[in-house]
Amino acid sequence: MSATEQISIRVEPTKTSRLSQVDFNNLKFGQIMSDHMLVANYENGQWTDVAIVPYGDLTLSPSMSALHYGQAIFEGIKGYKFADGTVSIFRPDKNWERFNKSAARLQMPEVPEEIFMDGLTKLLDVDREWIPSIEGTALYIRPFMFATEAALGVHPSISYKFIIITCPVGAYYSKPISLKVETHYTRAAEGGVGFSKNAGNYALSLYPTQLANNEGYDQIMWTDANEHKYIEEAGTANLIFRIGDTIITPHGDTILHGVTRRTIMELAEEWGYKAEQRKVSVQELIDGIKAGTVTEAFAAGTAATITHIDRIGFEGQDYTLPPVEGREFSLKVLSYLNDLRYGKSEDTHGWNLIV
Ligand code: PMP
Repeated sequence: MSATEQISIRVEPTKTSRLSQVDFNNLKFGQIMSDHMLVANYENGQWTDVAIVPYGDLTLSPSMSALHYGQAIFEGIKGYKFADGTVSIFRPDKNWERFNKSAARLQMPEVPEEIFMDGLTKLLDVDREWIPSIEGTALYIRPFMFATEAALGVHPSISYKFIIITCPVGAYYSKPISLKVETHYTRAAEGGVGFSKNAGNYALSLYPTQLANNEGYDQIMWTDANEHKYIEEAGTANLIFRIGDTIITPHGDTILHGVTRRTIMELAEEWGYKAEQRKVSVQELIDGIKAGTVTEAFAAGTAATITHIDRIGFEGQDYTLPPVEGREFSLKVLSYLNDLRYGKSEDTHGWNLIV
């Protein structure tokens, strides 16, 4: 018998819902958490105590190893409500796979389907009322795991907590953004942890991003650690370009393999575009912008789906991308995914997990 066959999820409903205090027309990202959270503990090589409980503070030891040695990973997923009230989660199986890849790289235990996937759907069922239905809004879902062993010393923790919290998020009006090509700082190196969604990858991005902000750019375009020659990704999103009639995205284990990126590349292929996952040099991009062959450039991620890029700064020079109105591919993707996520079109790929 596997260690997970016995897993059942206990539900302890809140006695005091905070739902009536929420202004669903004025939601700020990540500020108000839904009534419940899922918590599971890993001890003695087993997941135990899987429960959906009222959202609230945790009691943790100051010597807890995640705080010192950084075994901490997370995911970001969105749940949507259709006009008829149906609740749907977008491709969470891909996040579950990525979560366990992150876990393996950080020497953390895998989270079984019965906890991650079943926990997710049960939690959304319990907090169904928290999922906003206005188009553009969603329930942001944040599964995470961290090391809880109360002991100093660099070694893999013997205990962990897996938690899922959720929060309703408002419509995301994505203005085009500007990116600075980063040629000094590095996000990830070959053999490192770039492909994993661990907390440290975000901590290390803050200082260089602040420097880019000070220079008037919204985000960084990371480049490879060896030569700062090849494009990797941006802040919290992958990068996709249209060069001629080809849809291109950088590839490799130094970038996070986004679910949005994957979805968009699958659609590109299905719609008859040439779709390539390959190295893209900064020079190829700049040359293409100058020649007019780069017609679309965007960041792809769960938060905004697509965020258009309007300006790229490289070695003190700014390069401007064509106007958003003419970006046929990315605008088509946006409207396709919008219809799919709100149940307005047929889910031919099976990407919506109905709760
Ligand atoms: N890269 C990074 C560093 C990110 O944080 C994210 C957001 N999860 C992405 C790419 C895009 O991934 P996804 O499409 O799965 O949200």
